[in-house]
Amino acid sequence: MNVLVLGAGQLARMMALASKPLNVAIRAYDVGSKTVVDPLAPQLTFGDLDQGIEFADVITAEFEHIDHQTLAVCEASGKLRPSSQAIKTGGDRRLEKALLDKAGVANAPYKVIEHKEDLLLAIEELNVPLVLKSALEGYDGKGQWRIKADSNVDLIWDDIASFLEQAKGRVPQGIIAEQMIPFDREVSMVGVRDIHGNTFAYPLTENHHSNGVLSVSLATGEHQGLQQQAANAFAKVADALDYVGVLAIEFFQVGDKLLVNEIAPRVHNSGHWTQQGADTCQFANHIRAVCGLPVGSTDLVRPTAMINILGVDSVPVEVLSVTGTQLHWYGKTKRPGRKMGHINVCGADKAELLARLTKITEILPEDDFQGVKQYVNDIS
Ligand code: ATP
Ligand code: MG
Ligand code: MG
Repeated sequence: MNVLVLGAGQLARMMALASKPLNVAIRAYDVGSKTVVDPLAPQLTFGDLDQGIEFADVITAEFEHIDHQTLAVCEASGKLRPSSQAIKTGGDRRLEKALLDKAGVANAPYKVIEHKEDLLLAIEELNVPLVLKSALEGYDGKGQWRIKADSNVDLIWDDIASFLEQAKGRVPQGIIAEQMIPFDREVSMVGVRDIHGNTFAYPLTENHHSNGVLSVSLATGEHQGLQQQAANAFAKVADALDYVGVLAIEFFQVGDKLLVNEIAPRVHNSGHWTQQGADTCQFANHIRAVCGLPVGSTDLVRPTAMINILGVDSVPVEVLSVTGTQLHWYGKTKRPGRKMGHINVCGADKAELLARLTKITEILPEDDFQGVKQYVNDIS
């Protein structure tokens, strides 16, 4: 089988790595240069989108901010999985919120904002603090604003207006205002839906963010009370989208309740631990699902954690001497804050995992891994 992935970043690369043993060939469409490349050797090119579509038995995506014209062309070929509607819904917070409401899945209270008056009304009805999020093109905490009791709303609106002005022509206008949720913890569920409509969920993952970007994920299999709640939400969302492939749902945990933050119609950073800690990793399962192959077990093999490597292109090699550690580089050019790679580490039980995590944080330079050491301390 041949698969074309829309997007040529690290997620396409990891799909390609997981696909080789399945005898599935992967090419990736780089939306920036509009060329089809080998995701493991991006200097190898294979023409334009039409040629990519011709190559493919199946077309899928590694990110949700794909222009609608490209999605339409791919959908017309009859090869796109998941559907363009599912991808668009994950890429537009207004569609996403409407879907969550329709599917009856609890999420943070919100209002759609188009004009300054809408914002003033939202402040009145939802109360501060609020998080404002661009409806489109938001990722890694970009395109977000916070409104607190002492915020200067006029200044914030000016900033939003210039952000929207810059995006004009490329994307329709719009933001959403969301109530700031005083969560106890952030967790996510990565799961798979096959072509027959069966859903499979990985164990709930605990996520720690620094400056709006995922920093550490932890899968221990211990959130049994919440697992079923998350799996139910997962099935409702995946069914409502008639989804095929891997889908991720981010939640806020408030007490013993889960509220959806957002969905990602693709393999997800908080599922990278499955490369080492699950029977079948998310990348292999995504490819299996979109190719119509049987989905593999999503069971936890052993407690596993992932640390994101952000903005640096090397770490001390001694991390590899910590038993159970794997290093994954994406082969990208260094930029401040950019996702460059990740470290996975497992343990026979949570105590062993935490001990190994502590060893790793002692080796990693503190400046480049702000927040990781603190978090590991906090949970140890
Ligand atoms: P990504 O796609 O990379 O996960 P994003 O840019 O789509 O990020 P969100 O996930 O919506 O952004 O928000 C980033 C982080 O900001 C969340 O993980 C959470 O820590 C915080 N956050 C977002 N919305 C809220 C909210 N309503 N209440 C409290 N915290 C929030
Ligand atoms: Mg997002
Ligand atoms: Mg998010």
